[in-house]
Amino acid sequence: MKFDSSIQRIGVFTSGGDAPGMNAAVRAVVRASIFYGKQAVGIYRGYEGMIEGDMKLLDSRSVSNIIQRGGTILKSARSTEFRTPEGRKKAYENLKAHQIDALVAIGGDGTFRGAHLLHEEFGIPVVGLPGTIDNDLNGTDFTIGYDTAVNTAAFAIDKVRDTASSHNRLFFIEVMGRHSGQIALRSSIAAGAEATMIPEQPMGIDEIVKILETGASRSKSSSLVVVAEGGKTGRSFDIAKEVNERFSHYDTKVTILGHLQRGGSPTVADRVLASRMGVVAVEALLGGKTDVMIGIVNNQINFEPFAEATGKVDNFDPEMLRIANILSF
Ligand code: ATP
Repeated sequence: MKFDSSIQRIGVFTSGGDAPGMNAAVRAVVRASIFYGKQAVGIYRGYEGMIEGDMKLLDSRSVSNIIQRGGTILKSARSTEFRTPEGRKKAYENLKAHQIDALVAIGGDGTFRGAHLLHEEFGIPVVGLPGTIDNDLNGTDFTIGYDTAVNTAAFAIDKVRDTASSHNRLFFIEVMGRHSGQIALRSSIAAGAEATMIPEQPMGIDEIVKILETGASRSKSSSLVVVAEGGKTGRSFDIAKEVNERFSHYDTKVTILGHLQRGGSPTVADRVLASRMGVVAVEALLGGKTDVMIGIVNNQINFEPFAEATGKVDNFDPEMLRIANILSF
């Protein structure tokens, strides 16, 4: 591909919650920039580092040996100052001082709201890569980090199953997902859980008790219920207590998987997704695109305007819940 672009220096940063595969994305952006004869600058600690001028040139070797590592070598942060016009002005002035002509933002919806404002207020070209374990953005089938988090959750649920079935126990296993049951539903199917509680289709205590009673009447020796944390980490303790008051057939326990879902080496799916998206992000900037997130829909690249990517998310697939319910019977 040939590009007639005035962009010479591309800044790349990771922001918001970290996700496995962010390093693979950084590597792809740096290597693709250099491939097209441009320079890449790493901006540390997201918008916080942009405001403080914490950035440096990255060469091909500086991103060696990171594709398989979780976390982000550029670090991540949440910045209150960047939410103010003064903070964003400081950030932009630092970009100018470092001769950065364009940006690749790797993060979630908050990161893209900030990126949209940078573009709108200062005209700097910005393209985003969806880096979040929650899979909660419009315009892409999968976000970077989601597959790894789901694998981690599924393998953890397998381990809980071993102890549950050895002792005739009922386990509530809480997984991440503030507004989205994506991790819960997929890991629940993969690990063969008895029920899944997700914010997209809330389930009452009555319904859970009924599922558990049906399972017990069919000689199930243990049961696993996967719970998306929703707005409140630890909510499965309240659910377990309420259920236990009405269904005491099994010894009831709660396991909260927590931050271990964010860590670990990214899966092949996440490494390949991040690599593909990183290259496309650089090509999109050099081709004149801005204010868009790179997505992949039905295996085709999709350029989703930031405003739409961060709008009300509509990616719940009732078909997956139907499958989970049939198979847990
Ligand atoms: P995750 O989905 O993993 O939480 P995220 O990108 O949504 O990732 P946030 O903490 O919401 O994480 O956003 C990251 C940063 O983006 C914030 O700390 C803030 O600096 C900036 N940001 C978020 N929302 C806005 C906004 N409306 N205006 C300006 N900046 C914003």
